[in-house]
Amino acid sequence: MAFIPRKDNRIQLFVCGPTVYDYSHIGHARTYVAFDVIARYLRYKGYDVFYLQNITDIDDKIINRAREVGVSWKEIADRYTKAYFEDVQALRITSVNKYAPATQYIDAILRQVRTLLEKGYAYELDDGIYFDVSRFKNYGKLSGRTVEEAEDTVSRIDEVIGKRNIADFCLWKLLKPGEPYWESELGKGRPGWHIEDTAITETEFGPQYDLHGGAQDLIFPHHEAEIAQMEAASGREPMVKYWLHTGFLKVGGRKMSKSLGNFITIRDALKKWDVDTLRLMLVSTHYRSPINYTEAAMEQAKNSLNYIRGATRAAKKKVDVKKWIEKFVDAMDDDFNTPKVVALLLEMGKRINKTEEDLSPAIYEIGEVLGIDFRLKERPLPAELMTLIKKREELRKQKRWAEADRIREELKKRGILLRDTPEGTEW
Ligand code: AMP
Repeated sequence: MAFIPRKDNRIQLFVCGPTVYDYSHIGHARTYVAFDVIARYLRYKGYDVFYLQNITDIDDKIINRAREVGVSWKEIADRYTKAYFEDVQALRITSVNKYAPATQYIDAILRQVRTLLEKGYAYELDDGIYFDVSRFKNYGKLSGRTVEEAEDTVSRIDEVIGKRNIADFCLWKLLKPGEPYWESELGKGRPGWHIEDTAITETEFGPQYDLHGGAQDLIFPHHEAEIAQMEAASGREPMVKYWLHTGFLKVGGRKMSKSLGNFITIRDALKKWDVDTLRLMLVSTHYRSPINYTEAAMEQAKNSLNYIRGATRAAKKKVDVKKWIEKFVDAMDDDFNTPKVVALLLEMGKRINKTEEDLSPAIYEIGEVLGIDFRLKERPLPAELMTLIKKREELRKQKRWAEADRIREELKKRGILLRDTPEGTEW
């Protein structure tokens, strides 16, 4: 399928952001790194991308966590919003133009709920205002589920007596004692789960835009609900031209998640592995496919990274790298085929080692798009140690092996390993 933005070369991209009640794990990183690479690539191709992400800073999970810990919901939301930004920075996710916290869009949320009530798509019950899925004729068009099938799925669906259809979902939750609320003529309350995203995107982009992303668990009911709300409210379709959904990061065949307790936080992972290794592991799988997280996969990424970096050391002959960049673009134009790009990088490393052709400018250019730094991390040695290395090379030329070995040992004690090559000594 050819990708054509709605207007000129402008792209409006929205991705569902985190619910800030705890630290994010590397399953979240899987999704956010995937969209970071997608946004970076679209910009690389010359598109003018505006990347918007919401932050769910009011939700049952936040309220429950606040109760457990004995602090206010706001304190939990602020604490984990800050933690999320720290993680995003540590993951080198630089492509997002705007983060939109739900609580800053309450007026827009209320406007949308009012419109849905006026147009007859919403109705009131004792505890809140609900969307009537049977009134929206296209309900189920993204996930391929009918209203009846949706009724079989009770998970993550508001369970309330009096709903017209089981799949009906809450737009505005009326105040329960002890819960946070906003004043409104619809009644004191707070937003339901789905409405924040369409209120945010309508405010920032309008009722229609180009790209919407998230992990595949959000297709139903979340993204289905977004379509229903926005298309019903605006009368325009489609809300989104292209949908992108990431496969899960799994551990032993099960989705990494807070509730299963099988998670590794981003900050813990980055204590053990550097960000280049983690990102390379993540992009080694296509964004739509599941990733099976293992230590072995991380080791493999680390080895690949070292191999590609190491190869750039051997690059000596200047060559035109255009054909390698073209291969990269071909792979990425094919639905962002990053595993193919990783294979290409390894092939380039092999080529450099074999021919000494300097493909490093292409490797660094591709690295910019993947958010991976393939430059060798060699720090210059203090002059005194460089003098010792030079002296040892002299001694070796004079075949004074014992003295040369003493210097090697001396440097080893100081954490510097030497390797003698035909071109001279490397450290
Ligand atoms: P949450 O904070 O749980 O609402 O999740 C934020 C985003 O991360 C959503 O798009 C989730 O679907 C996604 N996500 C959560 N866990 C995983 C996982 N194990 N693999 C990939 N994406 C995930």
